[in-house]
Amino acid sequence: MTLLSTTLVKRLEDPRLFRQYAYIDGKWTHGDAGREEAVYDPATNEVIGHIPLLEAEQITAAVDAAEAAFVHWRALRADERCERLLAWYDLIQANREDLATIMTLEQGKPLPDARGEVEYGASFVRWFAEEGKRTYGETIPSHIPNASLGTIKEPVGIAAMITPWNFPLAMITRKAAAALAAGCPVIIKPANETPFSALALAELAERAGIPDGIFNVVLGDPAEVSKILCSEPRIRALSFTGSTRVGRLLIEQSANTVKRLSLELGGNAPFIVGPDMDPKEAAYAAVSAKFQTAGQDCLAANRILVHESIHDEFVEQFTERMAALTVGNGLHGEVDLGPLIHRQAVEKAASIVDDAISKGATMIAGDQSQAPGDNFFMPVLLTNVTPQMKVWREENFAPVAGITAYSSDDDVIEMANDTEYGLAAYIYTHDIRRIWKLMRALEYGMVSVNSVKMTGPPVPFGGVKQSGLGREGGATGIDEYLETKYYCLGAL
Ligand code: NAD
Repeated sequence: MTLLSTTLVKRLEDPRLFRQYAYIDGKWTHGDAGREEAVYDPATNEVIGHIPLLEAEQITAAVDAAEAAFVHWRALRADERCERLLAWYDLIQANREDLATIMTLEQGKPLPDARGEVEYGASFVRWFAEEGKRTYGETIPSHIPNASLGTIKEPVGIAAMITPWNFPLAMITRKAAAALAAGCPVIIKPANETPFSALALAELAERAGIPDGIFNVVLGDPAEVSKILCSEPRIRALSFTGSTRVGRLLIEQSANTVKRLSLELGGNAPFIVGPDMDPKEAAYAAVSAKFQTAGQDCLAANRILVHESIHDEFVEQFTERMAALTVGNGLHGEVDLGPLIHRQAVEKAASIVDDAISKGATMIAGDQSQAPGDNFFMPVLLTNVTPQMKVWREENFAPVAGITAYSSDDDVIEMANDTEYGLAAYIYTHDIRRIWKLMRALEYGMVSVNSVKMTGPPVPFGGVKQSGLGREGGATGIDEYLETKYYCLGAL
């Protein structure tokens, strides 16, 4: 089963970061029944390694290990947990290049973007390491004679985490660092497409002195593993990042054990450009907000809504900027867009484009005969996009941009909110009254004004409507893994 991936191992300074096992109770583990699955480099379709598919008893063994380890981990002082997390942070930073290489090989994103993700992912570890020291309770003025009232914060218990393939490292650290700092053990089920980033993080967690049983990575058939995690009463919290479809399923499956749920689901971000904007400045920002990670980003600017007075010039500038994007293997030189995660994603993107054209959209760019391989999709620009089209209604998760003209602030608010999603929205305008009006009226968990970059450790990341429940990052991020215990001390 441990067929070594020569492509991957040869490129690593430290080949021990490449693990083809699950990690349970501090041990690297095969699947008991010998089942396994291949992992592919999406740029070449070459097999880069294999992962074991665990049996149900092995997932339960991870819960047993986490339960036993929890007793000691929660009893550590916050500054002791902080030291371990800072050691993990240092190791992630020290191995940045290898982690980025692993990520590019399994996910496809360009190496500079992968390095950026390692940096971004590590920053959550450092931030939550410190935040764990500030999980204060409160003192409550008493309404009961001779009593003292207050609250203390306690770790919620074992936390399971199911993570996606588009950000294979940062989606783990953003959850796990908060849970570990709060005193909770974690059981992580990464996406089967991108397991090696998760396993490299486990290797570094072990080296950082995070005790056995506190950081576990389980692998298997996603539906089988998730069912076990959801129905296991000893798992008290479940944090998921992924599609709204799977999020709904996990809510149902967790109902019987009434878990604390954090769900970071899909997005369908509007990008609103006001009439006062310089079309070139706004178009360049929109290109950047749409094509990061080849459009496979829950924050991708999917529906670009441009005031009619500057629409044509905006489209011209957008087209010019988009034409300068290079598409290719993320390992080679300076490319802007890597491949999509697999062939089905390419087919889905093509069907969304066809649907839009059949309903009246105009395709300005996107010649797929130029694609450098099976899993690549050349950036597409569609204009005259309407709400009847899939490109408006669905999260396309591909480099497909749709532009629509609008005529008034009231119109654009209605258009922007016309979706079941509510994760992030962008506004580009310098008119302070318009900013305030739109910012308040948009039904989104995050609104970014004149900035493509909006996320990071100190801020609450999350959505409303069917984009999810809960927040990651910031003080609210650690609260997802804490219970509030109220105490009433009567006359002593
Ligand atoms: P996905 O929902 O298909 O998979 C996410 C995780 O769920 C993976 O670990 C996968 O193995 C697992 N899974 C798949 N099928 C399952 C099933 N039947 N039962 C239980 N688990 C199952 O999503 P994806 O394709 O990996 O990622 C893309 C989605 O993630 C997009 O919708 C995107 O918007 C969303 N996303 C959201 C955020 C956010 O923070 N809101 C961030 C990144 C990605």
